[in-house]
Amino acid sequence: MGESDLKMIAALKGIGVSPGIVIGRAYALDHQDVKETLYKLDDGSFIPREIKRFRKALRNSKKELLEIKKEIGDRKGIGPLLIDVYIMILEDKTLVSNTIKNIEEHRVNAEWALKMTIAGHREVFDAMEDAYLRERIRDLEYVGQRILRNLSGKAHEKISDIEGEVVIVARDLSPADTVQMATRRILGFATDMGGMTSHTAIVAKSLEIPAVVGLERVTSEVSAGDLIIVDGTAGVVIVNPDPEVIKRYEDKKRHYLAMEEDMLKDAHLPAVTVDNHSVGVGANIEFVEEIPSAVFHGANGVGLYRTEFLYINRKELPTEEEHFLNYRQVVEGEGIKWATIRTFDLGGDKFVSDAGLAEEMNPVMGLRAIRFCLQEVELFKVQLRAILRASAYGNTGILLPMISGMQEILDARQIIDEVKEELVSAGVPIDEDIKIGIMIEVPSAVILAERLAEKVDFFSIGTNDLIQYALAIDRVNERVTYLYEPLHPAVLMMLRQVVEAGHRADIKVAMCGEMAGDPLCVPILLGLELDGLSMTPLAIPRVKKIIRNSTVKESAELLEKVMGFSTAREIETYVREYMIRRFPECCPVAWQAG
Ligand code: PEP
Ligand code: MG
Repeated sequence: MGESDLKMIAALKGIGVSPGIVIGRAYALDHQDVKETLYKLDDGSFIPREIKRFRKALRNSKKELLEIKKEIGDRKGIGPLLIDVYIMILEDKTLVSNTIKNIEEHRVNAEWALKMTIAGHREVFDAMEDAYLRERIRDLEYVGQRILRNLSGKAHEKISDIEGEVVIVARDLSPADTVQMATRRILGFATDMGGMTSHTAIVAKSLEIPAVVGLERVTSEVSAGDLIIVDGTAGVVIVNPDPEVIKRYEDKKRHYLAMEEDMLKDAHLPAVTVDNHSVGVGANIEFVEEIPSAVFHGANGVGLYRTEFLYINRKELPTEEEHFLNYRQVVEGEGIKWATIRTFDLGGDKFVSDAGLAEEMNPVMGLRAIRFCLQEVELFKVQLRAILRASAYGNTGILLPMISGMQEILDARQIIDEVKEELVSAGVPIDEDIKIGIMIEVPSAVILAERLAEKVDFFSIGTNDLIQYALAIDRVNERVTYLYEPLHPAVLMMLRQVVEAGHRADIKVAMCGEMAGDPLCVPILLGLELDGLSMTPLAIPRVKKIIRNSTVKESAELLEKVMGFSTAREIETYVREYMIRRFPECCPVAWQAG
């Protein structure tokens, strides 16, 4: 019996974080965590030795990170930026001083002292309500592992040393691992751990490497050299497929590539329906480095700049100048014709250590976003001044998050007016007619949409939060994701109410929640006559293609039809069948298989 006959076929389901299909040989990356052992230093004379070991491990870790940075060079994207973030964490004063304090006070070895420091940080991160920010503990853990490896003398296996074309299989990958994939022909990767919002997922997408994470047991199912299929579109990994399965996936891959190529080819055409309804298609970005990819995928503006990322991974608040230079880069970005800058959606002292606010029981409904800004007016003004200054350099809009009623708009507008006046009287150039919009993401704002529309220049619907609050579904709790349904009849009724209210007041209504980039929802959104859709850059070509091949008339008929259904399931089934029939070339392969 040949070796291959003994191999078991296995199909694993995970989370597809970067689309595409690859078939290749597995490379098992050994990133087993180094375990910390406790040694009590009863003799105090050992303390200086431990501190010295710790400092040496810090130096060596920094050296390694600088080497990786050198290897990936000055390529665009968030890769080099992430390495800088790791170096910042490594040099973070609290990380260093707390670990040294732990060695001195608890008389423990450097490894254990570092473990204590990270455990303290973990508690703070665990309390964060935002999935993205909560995931950032992984950056700290990654840096911690690198220091531990240096303390233990074990080398950190480098992706850039891997030979040949392989699919990487690992328990987890750090973004530093992922960025190195750019320098080698890594076909794809599959990991036991990870989620949709991890940096690793973001980097994989920007490098366009098919990837599936959260597979739980891929490392135990796969041995080095096994043949493996990674379907990053469907979130599936097949281990040791038989020839029949390989053939099916080769066909799927060809189909997928042809479809993507076709879509990308036309990504720069305007998003105008057959009956001449024009939709402003923008990109949602978190970092300025994403702009080239946004433009490449067909965005001509930034529909949502999530500025809160300027505040994380740092101890001091960003200065007005930092904000300004950053926003100016966005509004002046090559190919960017307009940019909507959202004022920060931070939840107080969760990321900004000196904001002096108490921890909250239920931070999602707590002092976040506009509520926080209206309490911390000086902090808010710093950001507003910077946005207004940047508005002199490009078509800029201000977007206020989490508006729940009129008073917040009036208060925010008053502050914006004050800042404007200060800048104008100081002779600083600004766009005095800058458009001010609000996120519609709290159900009370939907109910009041008609009145709120009188006081703002545009609406942008944040379905991520709106669905969470309206359907009472925690958007990051995987146990209730099955209830998180954008095509829920209640959601569609809310959307219709908002669009109609906005249009009656003659203001534009856009959407920037994930729903805007979901191909399944596009005909419904066209039927609603939304004026703009903003989404993650990779989603743009497909959404634009659907728009270009639709009419508002047929979309409105589809909307009318599904509005008569009582459950999200009926609506989803109906729309999916409609899409497969009407736009087979725009449907993700996974739908057609399902
Ligand atoms: C939303 O809530 O839909 C949104 C776009 O904002 P965020 O995801 O940043 O909360
Ligand atoms: Mg939101």
